[in-house]
Amino acid sequence: MILQHHRYQDIFSKALEYEPLMREEALHLMTIPLHSEACYQLMATADLMSKQEFGFKAENHYHIGLNVEPCPLDCLFCSLTHTAGIFTEKTEFSLEQVITWAKEAEEHQADALNLMTTGTYPFEKLLEIGRILSNEVSTSLVANTRDINHHEGEELLKAGFVGAYHAVRLGEGRDTPLNRDKRIATIKVLRDVGLAWANCIEPVGPEHHDEEIVDLMLLARDHGATYSGVMRRINFPGSPMTKFGMITELEMARLVAISRLVMGKVPKAHCTHEPHSASLLAGANLFFPEVGSSPRDGIDDTGKGRGRGIEDCQHIQREMNLDPLLPSNCYRSATAANDIEKDQ
Ligand code: SF4
Repeated sequence: MILQHHRYQDIFSKALEYEPLMREEALHLMTIPLHSEACYQLMATADLMSKQEFGFKAENHYHIGLNVEPCPLDCLFCSLTHTAGIFTEKTEFSLEQVITWAKEAEEHQADALNLMTTGTYPFEKLLEIGRILSNEVSTSLVANTRDINHHEGEELLKAGFVGAYHAVRLGEGRDTPLNRDKRIATIKVLRDVGLAWANCIEPVGPEHHDEEIVDLMLLARDHGATYSGVMRRINFPGSPMTKFGMITELEMARLVAISRLVMGKVPKAHCTHEPHSASLLAGANLFFPEVGSSPRDGIDDTGKGRGRGIEDCQHIQREMNLDPLLPSNCYRSATAANDIEKDQ
């Protein structure tokens, strides 16, 4: 027991030196029990690393789900699937509505706009919305869509996007019909064309093994994610994953901390979802306020459902003595680079 405790301390010290952790060290951190002294030391270490790297900045990347449809891809954890049967018709939020949301995000000094589509949404439409929003707001645009090739990556850049959220999900290829290698190929495309890669370890449930979780943390670090925290799975009513249950916010905070130690010097922020306080003590500083469609909700506009608004998110962050109005660490340089290019 004492030996194990010393081993934890050695890994915390190594992380604080920003030396990359080995897989076996990250797996050892996964053995730290909740409520133990080591667990609070783990969270304190992660918190210190984030304060050293991000200061007291709290980020809000405002999620807009552009459409609802009974998605034929049928990922088991998603409420937007054909099989879940919650949504039987296609709905696209109007351009006016999307612009209104984007302006709300800008007024509240959101740090990015993440535009999410379902798996079969036409790529050309996403580009068109990107072009329109780039003229309407100055907030950095991030795409969250299907796998793309190099040409499509360049099209995203031209349409005004500075980054893309693209996760290899837990259970990819098992709980989803998507190909893990193709997801990783898209992450490489993002890097090649100069789009920032945004990521999260998701959607975590109690059934996921330590190895699967840690391997995705290492993938995020080794491919240079802009951020890569942790999101838990929310079991919507009737979800086929209900039998597994859900992890608690405190369990999520422990994983957020482990992920923070693994990420070292690489990220510009550290995310968690859904918004809550515990992970802000464990290295997280990034929330996603949500409107429009959400794979966790049973109503079409999550802003009227589970989704937390930007004012709520900023309130939680301020209660934890973080400042959401400081400049973003995530996309500042990408935006500045685009501005320079436009000026030339
Ligand atoms: S997660 Fe995306 S691709 Fe999978 S079913 Fe939901 S909308 Fe479709």
